[in-house]
Amino acid sequence: MEKTEIIIHTKLTIGVSACCMGSPVRYNGKGWDLLKNLGREKNDFRWCPVCPECMAGLGVLREPIRLSGGDGTKVWTGDAEVKNRKGEIVTNKVIEGALACIEALSRAGAIAYVYMDGSPSCGVYRTTLKNTNRGNPPGVFGAKLLELGFFLIPASDLQSPLKWWDWRRRLLAFYWLKNVPLDSKNQLYEAWYKTKFLCRELNQEWTQNIGRNLALIVEEDVKEFGDRFRKEALDLLRKPSNTKKITNSLWAQYSYYKKLQGKSIEEINAPEIKRNVTSIAKELLLMERKAHEDKVFFGTSPVLYRDKRSN
Ligand code: SF4
Repeated sequence: MEKTEIIIHTKLTIGVSACCMGSPVRYNGKGWDLLKNLGREKNDFRWCPVCPECMAGLGVLREPIRLSGGDGTKVWTGDAEVKNRKGEIVTNKVIEGALACIEALSRAGAIAYVYMDGSPSCGVYRTTLKNTNRGNPPGVFGAKLLELGFFLIPASDLQSPLKWWDWRRRLLAFYWLKNVPLDSKNQLYEAWYKTKFLCRELNQEWTQNIGRNLALIVEEDVKEFGDRFRKEALDLLRKPSNTKKITNSLWAQYSYYKKLQGKSIEEINAPEIKRNVTSIAKELLLMERKAHEDKVFFGTSPVLYRDKRSN
């Protein structure tokens, strides 16, 4: 097994709430370009903007909508409704709009979605904006995205370089692990080795358990174990890390690099050194680049995207 990172050349498609990509499609005719925060990195992905409320035929400008009698999940089971500010029931239209967007995302091959939290349609963990409660989360479209297992990224996190770095590395690992074959012990060991550093950062106990069980596995149990490992690891990779865990991982991996290469990277600081999240994100990107150039495995960020023309 090669102890190097995985390089993928596939440009991943990410769905995005159209109002977060600059389209003025909100009920009040507004929108924000949050993707501009990614700078040139925006070009490493293909974006598929959708707006469930526009696809519902509600138009811009429109009356704001709210969930009534339950959350977005209950709308799908017929136990809750969607009403506009005038009290008109628009449930069927909103469901049709959400389905049309899911169809578009599926045609585009999107596995991830950048959502506008706070919306009664696209919201996932919040359906409240500026203290205006529009029902209980998730929203109608958000509920469908959760059900279908999309990798969900809140649009507000694109504004933080460190949060985006965390989302990106987990998304790339998620994509690789979702598609890698796990039919033999060797494939399973490789998938485990490549993802264990990141998984350990996210949940140490789970990772230790899997590692212990993997050591005892016999050939006839590989399929069942592989399916369980993949499902649980994908669930884990959907959840964000935090600044403390990330800086500790960076330091651990840098120490490994230093030992192996016998050289230092001056810009990388120990976890106890106070610095802002922008500096930490810069150090992480530097560590990724140096590890790649020197062929040292940076397990904290095990899957990298490279354009076919670059190395
Ligand atoms: S939050 Fe979703 S439904 Fe609302 S405007 Fe944005 S894309 Fe459209």
